[in-house]
Order: sequence, then C-alpha cells, then structure tokens
Amino acid sequence: MGMVKRLLEDYVQAVHPHDFDEQDALMEDICNGNIVVPLEAMSATVDEYKKHSMQAEYDNGECPDCGEPIPDYTDDGDNCTNCEHVFYRYRENDDAVPSE
Ligand SMILES: [Zn+2]
Repeated sequence: MGMVKRLLEDYVQAVHPHDFDEQDALMEDICNGNIVVPLEAMSATVDEYKKHSMQAEYDNGECPDCGEPIPDYTDDGDNCTNCEHVFYRYRENDDAVPSE
C-alpha cells in the first residue's frame, strides 16, 4: 500500500502542481473510486511531471544564478551542474493534509 500511496500522492501533485485543494479533491475521488486511473497511466503522468517540474519552477527553466538550462529530471535539492545552486520544487505543505 505504501508504494501505491506514494504514487498517488505524486500523481495528484503532478496533475495539480500548485493547487492543494484540487490535489485533495482528486485524491478523494480516486480513493472513493469515483475516478479510476490505471497505475501505468499514473506512473506515466508522474514521470512526465518529474521530467519538467523543476524547469517549470524557474523562469525560462534556467538556473537563477548562472542561467544554465535546468536538466530534465532535476529533483528537489539537486545542484546546478554549472554553479552548484540548489534547486527547490514548490513546497508541499504537510499541514494542509487534514487529519481525517
Ligand atoms: Zn547555476
């Protein structure tokens, strides 16, 4: 269950990167069975999101310090290959998850 839950969390974030309300709503719809998304489709969406998500966080998809293009699949906390600037993805707010 843990891996599926993780994938599900990544999926709703990929579909609604900056909208936590939409993420929660989509999560609920999937958990309730109102929306059925095959795992492969989720994986594909998540993969595509991770490929470009960091580029989308920065102007022109470039390092703000040196202007080097941000590579595909740059992850949270990765360094710029050119100047060692650390990239951060839009922050998830853990407190936004309702306790029940
Ligand atoms: Zn840089």
